[in-house]
Amino acid sequence: MTDRPPEPRPRGNRLSIVIPMLNEERGLETLVERLRPVLDATGMAWDIVFIDDGSRDRTRDLLRRLNRQDARLKAIALSRNFGKERAVAAGLQHARGDAVVLMDADLQHPPEVIPQFLAQWRAGYDVVYGQRDDREADSLPRRLFSKGFYGAFKAMSGTSLPDGAGDFRLFDRKAADAMNRFSERVRFNKGLYAWIGFPSTGVTFHVPPRFDGTKSRFRPRALLRFAMDGLVSFTTMPLRIWSYVGVVVSGLSFAYILGFLIKMAIFGGGASGFPTLIISILFLGGIQLISLGVIGEYLGRMYEEVKGRPLYIVDEAIGLDQPAEQQSKPLEPAPVKLRQVP
Ligand code: UDP
Ligand code: MG
Repeated sequence: MTDRPPEPRPRGNRLSIVIPMLNEERGLETLVERLRPVLDATGMAWDIVFIDDGSRDRTRDLLRRLNRQDARLKAIALSRNFGKERAVAAGLQHARGDAVVLMDADLQHPPEVIPQFLAQWRAGYDVVYGQRDDREADSLPRRLFSKGFYGAFKAMSGTSLPDGAGDFRLFDRKAADAMNRFSERVRFNKGLYAWIGFPSTGVTFHVPPRFDGTKSRFRPRALLRFAMDGLVSFTTMPLRIWSYVGVVVSGLSFAYILGFLIKMAIFGGGASGFPTLIISILFLGGIQLISLGVIGEYLGRMYEEVKGRPLYIVDEAIGLDQPAEQQSKPLEPAPVKLRQVP
């Protein structure tokens, strides 16, 4: 999906890194150690915005300590776990760089790739995404699930997501601002990345296993929900398909009635077929329940949007003097109060 190379253009000198974190105390310091030399070597004025997505371990304490040692290491701590999609939204809203790089905390997104991102950015691309070369680091069921999901997503939404591209990416200020305009609560960032457009290109990278040897922070149930959110927020196909199913089923039963009448007229004879009756009742009952369920999936998410709750609540801003409020939300209630760290 690499676009035609645009014109190289002068770019600003500020770089922000955004890193969502859930219980990452074990890897945090190593992550900073790996990032620091890479960022220094870019010659840019950099900062890192960590988002503590409701960690239950010492992540937040460590973030406070890091900020005391180096003011460029900033953080916002959310009031609870809001999920990665919203944590990413929070991070993008608080990043101020001319370029914003989003990455995971577990070193599955190697910092050494960032200079390549920057090179493509200077070459004129407004979005540069990391493309994993394989999915070896994921478990087999997870890989199969991903494959099935992306196939279904493409077929139903008509949007094809670049293969193996995820949350490791660079946004130009323009693209980051575009991301910040989405107020949707049912968020599927990968879809939004594709939706905003802009000249984009990929940089291939290899995904090592999670650095600290722990498991993915996503439980299977969370993944399933994530997949449903993705589909529902990018296609209404599952809703519409029921009209077609209805047409086909009605057509079939009409043909059956005709056939039955003709048979009666020619051969006479009474009605038969208890099995036919029970089968068709169960079949249609099943179909109706499924279609109701699908409507429910959409309705529930519409309810979620209509309530207009904030995307996330900030509990504490660490080293950020002007924390962004949840921006550009027409439905938003009064901004949340922030507890500032002295
Ligand atoms: N993460 C988060 N909130 C969540 C789940 C995950 O901020 O509810 C962060 C996590 O700390 C990590 C990144 O999202 O920095 C990706 O998580 P993980 O590596 O567990 O996912 P995977 O690599 O399996 O996609
Ligand atoms: Mg990971």
